[in-house]
Amino acid sequence: MHEYSLVTELVEECQRRAGSRRVRSVTVRCPSTVDRVELKTLFAAASAEHHMAGARLEIETVATLWHCTCGYEGELPPEARVGHLAVCPRCSSVQPLEDALELVAVDTET
Ligand SMILES: [Zn+2]
Repeated sequence: MHEYSLVTELVEECQRRAGSRRVRSVTVRCPSTVDRVELKTLFAAASAEHHMAGARLEIETVATLWHCTCGYEGELPPEARVGHLAVCPRCSSVQPLEDALELVAVDTET
């Protein structure tokens, strides 16, 4: 599953940053199109697997900005999203949607 690999990569990056310290919480910026509940569930599972059990996930939601070759630029309405594809609200061209999680901060015990 696509979100699962995003979350696994995120957890691995957190571990690299934390080293041997215990991770208390992780802050990420994620596009509004990503399901927050699913993200938290996946994070809980992935963090337990990677010895980061109990780490809290803080999510900052950012708008998904869409830039199309037709010149359309703006926030992507939820109905314009089909799975991991986006349909341009103006010209109806279909393009892959990038769901990127941006790691903002890793809070560790000192
Ligand atoms: Zn377009």
